[in-house]
Amino acid sequence: AIELKNIVKSFGDTAVVKGIDLNIEDGEFVVLVGPSGCGKSTTLRMIAGLEQATSGDIVIGDRVVNDIEPQHRNIAMVFQNYALYPHKSVKENIIFALRRQKVDNQDIERRLTEVSEMLQLEALLDRKPADLSGGQRQRVAMGRAIIREADLFLFDEPLSNLDSKLRSHMRTEIGKIHNKFGRTSVYVTHDQVEAMTLADKVVVLHDGYIAQAGTPMEVYLNPANVFVAQFIGSPS
Ligand code: ATP
Ligand code: MG
Repeated sequence: AIELKNIVKSFGDTAVVKGIDLNIEDGEFVVLVGPSGCGKSTTLRMIAGLEQATSGDIVIGDRVVNDIEPQHRNIAMVFQNYALYPHKSVKENIIFALRRQKVDNQDIERRLTEVSEMLQLEALLDRKPADLSGGQRQRVAMGRAIIREADLFLFDEPLSNLDSKLRSHMRTEIGKIHNKFGRTSVYVTHDQVEAMTLADKVVVLHDGYIAQAGTPMEVYLNPANVFVAQFIGSPS
């Protein structure tokens, strides 16, 4: 499980995350949703260890990870602005982390086949990132993350550059992947449809605070305030 305990993040004098408390159960798919600038990416980056919280504790499993380097947190992340290695093939981009972890070749091939089928990357494995469309590159970035058997998966708007048809296809795929592997995931989006269809738990952020957390149905049927109602598009 993961626990955020009264997490605050300030840049200079400005607090952008203002005391977040959140529990995430093993296997849970949590979606952080909210308008631009509300602190979604900053929160995710603190969980990943790419930003240091100004105060508060982050617990992953049985460790307080505040002082643990990102590479020792056993997390896989898909960034908002993913970066692929330009000189490596799609295949090498996807399996790079596994090679470093000294996973054996047979296991690498098995996982590569599985992931490239899931993301429809089979025909692209020998290409270089420069020869792919934006959507294809985003699928490679996704493959690179999910091929790892990390304790925790973090996604920052992984579908934001896709056209609506591919976005809805990928949304379905992500849902399937989660149902199949049940990996603990924190997924950031400002897209309400993504939030409502993927989440076990939706966390609505507003200006650095949690406006409401609950199941998609709870948040939709019983919005805590006008902000949540308007943002989620609830009936009331
Ligand atoms: P978006 O949907 O646009 O990606 P977000 O919810 O992910 O928004 P964050 O990137 O977490 O928002 O940013 C929250 C606030 O913190 C914003 O006002 C942003 O300008 C500010 N901020 C983020 N990073 C820094 C930084 N390194 N220095 C100063 N301010 C920052
Ligand atoms: Mg962001």
